[in-house]
Amino acid sequence: MMEEKRDFYIDGSWVKPSKRNDLEVIDPSTEEVCAVISLGSESDTNLAVEAANNSFLSWWKMPKNKKLELLNNLLNIYISQSSKMADAISKEMGAPKDWSLNQQSQSGEDHIKTFINKYKEFEFENYLDKEKGNYISYEPIGVCALITPWNWPINQIALKVLPALAAGCTMILKPSEIAPLSALLFAEMIHEAGFPKGVFNLVNGDGPGVGTQLSSHPNIDMVSFTGSTRAGKLITKNAADTIKRVSLELGGKGANIVFADADEKAVRRGVRRVFNNSGQSCNAPTRLLVEKSIYERAVKEAIDVAENTEVNIANKDGNHIGPVVSKIQYEKIQTLIKKGVEEGAKLVAGGLDRPSHLNKGYFIKPTVFADVNNEMTIAKEEIFGPVVSIIPFSTEEEAIKISNDTNYGLTNYIQTKNTDKAQRIARQLRSGMVEINGIGFADDSPFGGYKQSGNGREGGKWGIEEFLEVKSISGWE
Ligand code: NAD
Repeated sequence: MMEEKRDFYIDGSWVKPSKRNDLEVIDPSTEEVCAVISLGSESDTNLAVEAANNSFLSWWKMPKNKKLELLNNLLNIYISQSSKMADAISKEMGAPKDWSLNQQSQSGEDHIKTFINKYKEFEFENYLDKEKGNYISYEPIGVCALITPWNWPINQIALKVLPALAAGCTMILKPSEIAPLSALLFAEMIHEAGFPKGVFNLVNGDGPGVGTQLSSHPNIDMVSFTGSTRAGKLITKNAADTIKRVSLELGGKGANIVFADADEKAVRRGVRRVFNNSGQSCNAPTRLLVEKSIYERAVKEAIDVAENTEVNIANKDGNHIGPVVSKIQYEKIQTLIKKGVEEGAKLVAGGLDRPSHLNKGYFIKPTVFADVNNEMTIAKEEIFGPVVSIIPFSTEEEAIKISNDTNYGLTNYIQTKNTDKAQRIARQLRSGMVEINGIGFADDSPFGGYKQSGNGREGGKWGIEEFLEVKSISGWE
């Protein structure tokens, strides 16, 4: 059934777009239209920016306990509708049912909870130097544009909306036009929670339209963006004339360094991590670096994981992987697989074309390339599909060099039982995050990258600080 979702959420109500400009939302499992939305135009953007400006002062000044009440309302509503959220995400970007509920939708709930706690304990004012009377006040930066991608749609939205609200900012969310359904449901939840009108607004649109209008808008103080490095560069340029703050969470090409003394599950765990979410995670460990003495065994294990990873439609129970999000992504991944073969990497599992049991949908075979070197396109570019590239190495120094030899710097991974070695290497990797031996991060740890993976940090207290200005006041007392 096709849903009609043409309206935007502006100034506390659902409003029709000023000009009709429909966009069909495609379910990637079936290639069928599952919804229709509108792409906004300049007057829609301006209305939302005006609403956010008008509500800024009163939202900033609302007492913490009242804000917390609203945030808790949102949490309860979100929890009560988590399966609806999971359905929306399955439909718009193809996440399989169980994964969508337990990972995609769950991430939204986790972030709401964590930010409520961080907000409770955040100190917005304090002395820097009591004797001198130097006082520090953290204040909201103002009106924020939040631009989000399709791969972890509600995760990215929650990582921006919650800290922006906690900081005292007002906002315009422009979710990915490819996966807008989860965002529209989230806006309904915000409405039901009772936030004052104008604090949160949502306008759908594409990059050249609403995305560019927001980035260059004179009455917006900050853009918080998650998406491709390509779009991050354009946003930075468009924001330059108004000197707005630009916080970027971009792509990645993570290295996973597996030493001979790694635990026995290390290779399988790493390959599975690449295939999860059909390879569409910015922090996926897509370059599997393996010490030569265990190389052959590692390749065999990677092949085994690929051959045992089921690919199927989203609307089916189980721990299979789904399609990739769109025809464009499907074709981009096919092109990169072809490139891998042409440039001499050894295709050992998966490869071109859809799995034979599926005759429609944007499905990619779980794919493994062995004998990759770091100069090949598949080792350099973010593929954003279930494709892993195995690169052999001989020494610790060589592994570090290969890991850092990339334009990206989001997450790197180390697998070894030798703690000294792991710590020594973690300090030398040029990335915002380093995961050792598959141990997950705390809920309130900072997420973000070095180099062309961006300049922002989301999550925890760092996530709130992104949306704040620091004011220094002398002679306070
Ligand atoms: P994308 O850059 O194509 O789109 C992301 C968002 O930006 C969408 O809302 C889109 O409409 C908008 N946009 C596109 N061009 C724009 C422009 N010129 N001006 C303003 N807005 C514009 O990215 P995508 O394909 O949706 O997402 C995949 C990318 O996101 C991958 O590169 C992935 O690595 C990255 N990502 C990064 C993180 C992180 O935290 N570092 C997290 C998730 C995804």
